[in-house]
Amino acid sequence: MEQINLGDVTITRVWEYYGPVEMTPDTFFPEIPKEVWDDGASWLTPFFLDPETNIVNSAIQTWLLRSEGKTILVDTGVGNHKERPYSPVWSHLETDFLANLARAGVAPEDVDIVINTHLHVDHVGWNTYLDGRHWVPTFPNATYLMSKDDFDFWNPENGHKPLLGRGNQNVFEDSVAPVHAAGQTQLWENNYQITADLRLDAAPGHTPGSSVLTLASGSDRAVFVGDLLHSPVQILEPDTNSCFCEDPAGARATRHKLLGWAADNNALVIPAHLGGHGAVEVVRDGSKFATKGWAPFAPYSEQG
Ligand SMILES: [Zn+2]
Repeated sequence: MEQINLGDVTITRVWEYYGPVEMTPDTFFPEIPKEVWDDGASWLTPFFLDPETNIVNSAIQTWLLRSEGKTILVDTGVGNHKERPYSPVWSHLETDFLANLARAGVAPEDVDIVINTHLHVDHVGWNTYLDGRHWVPTFPNATYLMSKDDFDFWNPENGHKPLLGRGNQNVFEDSVAPVHAAGQTQLWENNYQITADLRLDAAPGHTPGSSVLTLASGSDRAVFVGDLLHSPVQILEPDTNSCFCEDPAGARATRHKLLGWAADNNALVIPAHLGGHGAVEVVRDGSKFATKGWAPFAPYSEQG
């Protein structure tokens, strides 16, 4: 199954890429004790960790939402043909993402809203595509919702020095600026109500303008947490960040708050990059959390 309904909202998983991310757990998550990975070997492999190579497996996927007749994309992956000198695994990709989107019944012109939970390289890629020598918006009729805090932080004109170093090199120029120049961005602050059932809120930490999308429809709840969780191990160890979190203390606090809300409200937690079943329910476990169950999304298959 690639689609579920929560209240009046339909959620469809659209794959771009699944596989190793060229990082071992101790590189990706320097704060997570090795024992936690060892203890979890039975359920973390193979979806979240390759047992042969000890490399983290990760998904790049877009969550396609349909709400009040609107077609909405949450994050746009890596994109094709992008020059990524500091992320070789994502450089010059040629994936079938648009074909996978078409299989879900969506042509580029059908998309009404694009949400970039934050402006890292792997969340904005399909914002644009290469048309001849120019990057142009992939979704010509869409409004692209971006946090103003992230837009300002990643804009090279502002001269910020991110933790990533040059890891996000070219990203603003080829995947953000062309959309802004086309007049298709909506830069929001604090929160943004998209439909009656979908709301964006600022959730700083991973990046200054990271955001989460909350779904509340009937009695159903879900929260799209972007990169506040890269691995389910961070549910068990919510104080542990990925090596990509700009503000470690802020990311910890935000993760605790969101997991607590999800546990208390029976909300499905939908991170950007979980492979396997893609989304998870959580419960409190003292000051930490545990997994309660997985969403019914099918794991990756070559058929997309
Ligand atoms: Zn990411």
